[in-house]
Amino acid sequence: MTGPESFRPRHMRTMKTDDLRVLHKWLSVLLLGCGIGTRLAGGGASDSPPRVFPNVPQDYLREADNPPDFWVSTVDGVTSFLGGRVHRGTVAVIGTSAGGRPIRAVFYGRARNGRGTTTFSGAIGAGAMRAYFGPDFDRKVYVAMASVHGGEFEGIVGLVNLLSVLETGNDLRGRPWPEVVAQAARIDRLVVIPIVNVDGRARVPLRMEAFRGNESRIPEYLNTGGWSDGGLIGWPACKAYIPLDFSRTQFPGGYPNDNGVNLMHDDFFGSRQPETQALFDLAARERPDLILNLHTGAGANDYYTRMHVPVMEEALRPAFNGLYRAVHTALVHGGFQGSSDLAVEADPGRTTSFGFNLDSALDFHCGALSVVVESPSHGYSGKNQRGDVVRHSADQLLDQQLLVQQEAMRYLADTGGRARWAGGK
Ligand SMILES: [Zn+2]
Repeated sequence: MTGPESFRPRHMRTMKTDDLRVLHKWLSVLLLGCGIGTRLAGGGASDSPPRVFPNVPQDYLREADNPPDFWVSTVDGVTSFLGGRVHRGTVAVIGTSAGGRPIRAVFYGRARNGRGTTTFSGAIGAGAMRAYFGPDFDRKVYVAMASVHGGEFEGIVGLVNLLSVLETGNDLRGRPWPEVVAQAARIDRLVVIPIVNVDGRARVPLRMEAFRGNESRIPEYLNTGGWSDGGLIGWPACKAYIPLDFSRTQFPGGYPNDNGVNLMHDDFFGSRQPETQALFDLAARERPDLILNLHTGAGANDYYTRMHVPVMEEALRPAFNGLYRAVHTALVHGGFQGSSDLAVEADPGRTTSFGFNLDSALDFHCGALSVVVESPSHGYSGKNQRGDVVRHSADQLLDQQLLVQQEAMRYLADTGGRARWAGGK
């Protein structure tokens, strides 16, 4: 059991905790004196110190041997990157997490100006999507967000490196991505949110997990948490406990925010979490066409990056199918699928739906096609459909992330976005 101090709500924190926060900030300032690699790599420290869970087995908190410098995944590492390396884009705080941490986004290009004359629902009823999007209906607006689940690092690394490409043309390995640059230039407005669930990410005190072979138990513990007896809360069982009562856990995992809520399954029509509200407000302001929601959780027996079909408006299905084909075709050509058979790998008919969730809510809120992309993990290997072991290196995981971004942007630029996908008259 963790002591009661760990579960005290934020507003009840004692002076002692506040003093620790000051010390944390002081230490962060000292750390900033180190080299840029160290700064970007970042430790576990963050704006608000995470609650402490002393009974997590020490071995679970082992870092990977020699994590590459490009693996920028912590709250501090991302904050430092946004503060020091983003010049062309505009960094803004779009909300504050349940635990009091800022949620940061980076904005590029021209937003949709002006307003439409009706709500999104009204536009569907009128058969006139332009009446919702307003005079700039034909601008293309793209949102990429990661770490809605705080224990899933691949998307964060992908988006930080995407930002590096947008800023310099190169990822953090120094590798150029001219097609990413070219496709991004065809998008009017880009919004990148590297860490949505800042509380959950701050709770998992690792930059890169130790590799666990074909055993996914420890990465899953870090993600979905463990009960007081150390037993795995697990997926999908964790979804039966929202909000999760942290006092029943040894470690709540990176899934929930500090209110215990898994943001993929918030109370969307009732009392929304601040992170969800920040996304809803952003979506209402920006009226995006496409939202990529980056997760880590590829199927263990077909262990490759895969897009899931959301529960969405029926009218968006053709656009989803096209996006799926485009992204998975590129992944096949990159060697990142289970076979080279496009008829199988790029067939949107094979994708799985996991029911009504954040992506559905975003679609019905603002008309965006919002899709989950599940990456394999750096922390464990899986299998292909023949039963062979598949392990993705950190380099390969980053390549997949950037390829997905590149092809999703290309698809949006080629097809013109929501008002053209299913716009009515
Ligand atoms: Zn996830």
